[in-house]
Amino acid sequence: MSCFKKGVVVLFGFSAFGQSNLQEHEIHSYVQAQTEEIFDSLVAIRRDFHVYPEVSEQEKRTSEKITEYLTALGLEVKTGIGGYGVVGILKGERPGKSIAWRADIDAMPSNIPDVVAFESKNEGVRHICGHDVHTAIGLGIANVLSGQKDSLKGNVYFVFQPSEENYKGAKAMIDDGLFQKISADEIYGLHISPFPVGSIATKAGNIYAHTNRVEVVYQKSGNEDSLINYTKKLISGLQNVPADSEFWNPANLGDPEIGIENPNTVFKDFLAVKENFEIDQTNDQLVIKAYLHSDDKKPLDTFLTVLRKTLTDSEYSENLISADYSYEKAVVVNDKDLTEKTVNSIKEIYGEKSVIPLYGVVTADRGDDFAYFQKEIPGVYFFLGGANYETGMIPMPHSPDFAVDEESIKVGVNYFSSMIIERLKAE
Ligand SMILES: [Zn+2]
Ligand SMILES: [Zn+2]
Repeated sequence: MSCFKKGVVVLFGFSAFGQSNLQEHEIHSYVQAQTEEIFDSLVAIRRDFHVYPEVSEQEKRTSEKITEYLTALGLEVKTGIGGYGVVGILKGERPGKSIAWRADIDAMPSNIPDVVAFESKNEGVRHICGHDVHTAIGLGIANVLSGQKDSLKGNVYFVFQPSEENYKGAKAMIDDGLFQKISADEIYGLHISPFPVGSIATKAGNIYAHTNRVEVVYQKSGNEDSLINYTKKLISGLQNVPADSEFWNPANLGDPEIGIENPNTVFKDFLAVKENFEIDQTNDQLVIKAYLHSDDKKPLDTFLTVLRKTLTDSEYSENLISADYSYEKAVVVNDKDLTEKTVNSIKEIYGEKSVIPLYGVVTADRGDDFAYFQKEIPGVYFFLGGANYETGMIPMPHSPDFAVDEESIKVGVNYFSSMIIERLKAE
């Protein structure tokens, strides 16, 4: 840890005397110098989390390490929020808006040996979703911005969230009064991804597919087989993705021609049915369930209307009890205005190539419970590139050979420290 005091003093002079373009950018040189200085220590911290991973709801050691680090930086620290959630509060010298940065901290159950030398010592648990990297970046941003404290207007909240993998932690923190303990105007966060290191990628609107479960309930009258066949066919027939589409292979998400970064992506304008129907039967009722994915909410609404009408008009209308969604996954939705502003400021500071615009959304049941924070306050979620195709390090979340180019820690701390500084300056 270091404070880079010299930078702080000079900067304060800049804001007092007005800001030219050059001066505006000076602060980001300090960000980069400070990041460079702490980079090795952040890598060491990341590897420590990697060696001692903890699954959802058991992140005791991880949260203690985070608390120690934030306390040493001089931040006010709140612990035990929604389980092992930790929040560090950085108060700028002058009043202003409040920005929250979220990092998820939990690991996953996995019995496959690590592909890195600093392998997990906690049997059956591994960081194969990169949350060790997310945590190190969150701490790095807290460190860098603490060094700029005297020139900051407003507050920054560092939200270290447990239990992302079971999709419970964000909601648990909110239910435990997170937004009463802090009053943030905007929230940001990232996930490591197989984009090349040095880049980030995002888009306005939703970034992961909507996932709904449709549930059709019938009164049984001895015709179960035909009810099941009819309903499966009907539901499958209402999707707009052909069975032989490249859409069905998640490996294509990163394809330069048809993946999410190409305007002609196959991962947009879709309503897709996962064909593994679940059938439940009681003495008198038959329940048929299926999961639907769409990049947009509207087709899901239309689907339900059409399904109900078709069922009501069908020869099975007498059997029909209900057709409804019994589950809707909370989905990450990026605020349009903030996406534009943050992307532009990062591009301006780190170059046009630093941001990959996205056109499609991620399918294959992926998601992030960061979605719950965005239901409370506007925010943006970014993919951080962590792949190095020359060394073969590809951070594909949950894959057994998950590996990250640790340069991505530097990129993450630089880009998002700068982004938060720019947001605090904005009206
Ligand atoms: Zn995960
Ligand atoms: Zn994850």
